[in-house]
Amino acid sequence: MRKAGVRPNQQKTTLNTEGGVHHDIKQMYNINSKTRLDEMGEMDAIQFALHGAEHRGYHICLQKDSNNVLTNLFFAHPTSIQMLHAWPYVILIDSTYKTNRYGWPWVEIIGVTPVKKNFNIACAIIKQETKETYEWLLRCIKGLLGDTVPNVIVTDKEGGLLASIPVVFPLPHTVHLLCLWHVNNCVKQKFEVLLGGIAKREVAQAVWKKYFDKAAWSWTEEGFLQKINEFERVWTVKNIKMVHYVRGEWLPHQTMWAKCYTNHVFHLGNTSSNRVESSHSSFKTFLVSGRGAIDTCFAKNHNYMEHQFLEVVNELHKSLNRNLSRAIEPPCTFLRRVVSSEAIKLMLDGAAELKDSCACHFQMTHGLKCACQIVQAKEEGRQFYAQELHVFWRTLDYKNPPRQQQVSDEIELQREHFRRLTVEVEERGPEAVRQARDALFYGLHPAEDNVEICEASHGQAG
Ligand SMILES: [Zn+2]
Repeated sequence: MRKAGVRPNQQKTTLNTEGGVHHDIKQMYNINSKTRLDEMGEMDAIQFALHGAEHRGYHICLQKDSNNVLTNLFFAHPTSIQMLHAWPYVILIDSTYKTNRYGWPWVEIIGVTPVKKNFNIACAIIKQETKETYEWLLRCIKGLLGDTVPNVIVTDKEGGLLASIPVVFPLPHTVHLLCLWHVNNCVKQKFEVLLGGIAKREVAQAVWKKYFDKAAWSWTEEGFLQKINEFERVWTVKNIKMVHYVRGEWLPHQTMWAKCYTNHVFHLGNTSSNRVESSHSSFKTFLVSGRGAIDTCFAKNHNYMEHQFLEVVNELHKSLNRNLSRAIEPPCTFLRRVVSSEAIKLMLDGAAELKDSCACHFQMTHGLKCACQIVQAKEEGRQFYAQELHVFWRTLDYKNPPRQQQVSDEIELQREHFRRLTVEVEERGPEAVRQARDALFYGLHPAEDNVEICEASHGQAG
């Protein structure tokens, strides 16, 4: 039970009710502790954790210093690696959670699926958050990826990562984005401090909202610069430190967080690493002891991940079988059960919210149809085909992902498109069939432009 991650308190209940054995909680802790020590034998906690990881098929990388002391440890579950190969596009990295007994940062590397459920790609325990350490960590991730690279990596503004990501995953193949949620939080907090502390929280919030937030969400670079200039003009007089802070800290990286720039990046909606936060909170509940030894942390994390993989599989299954009533009509009819229901939902929600003008970024950021395209297709009664959307949204079986759209696949895609069109025509009824037949016939035989095609079905055509 200990290995399966069952808490001593639950173990006690199970044993007492099912096994007819009576143990109090203290006895359960003692038994667990003794079992762990027996299993460890001569090994220390680190060796024991590594032993467990190897036994479970993990991919492990480690670094030692000149005294042969472990400094950095990276480990990836075999299922994580499979999922990463299916969904390599966006990677989130978060290192703020210090959980182990030694107070070393526990870094989580998270991947994104088409069903709004993230998965843990790997974990690392590192000694120092330096450029060198992160470079090593990123090379470990690169090792898992093989010959693909992620389109986007989202992180906090961590110096070590800022310097190392362009080295290991350079532009233009990989774009490094800063988590907008963290950027905003930093700005709000710093404004508050510079304005005179907690008492000025509301003022700080208002200034952030009026200038920074507006700039961050501006669709155009012009709009972004206008808001920043306005802020600088007003606050150079009122509190120049705030202007220096924004200039020094955030404007040098503006392309990594402001929407007018990130709207041109294929980030699948991940402009913040909030998903990492939520994965943290569920991980926290798994970390019963809070500050356990490395092997205990490892075991708890392992159980957490197995649980998370099951959730992802569950969500994929649900997504395939979800009956979206809104998608019965064109243009999404053919997408049902082929792409994730989240993709359809995202597109239809976008179209429903469309007011006067469409930003037309959705195709770039998500690989989906944007609102104006959907509205137009609806008006024309046109259908969308799965192949028109990014392969990410069609990867609903991570063990058997559809192949990437390469040149060699084009012919098969065209055939599939043709098959779908014939289905669509038949579904529309006899008049549509007649028109499509004429279009096809005269397209194939332009010379017979004046020949009447026999309408009867008794086989005397021509
Ligand atoms: Zn559009």
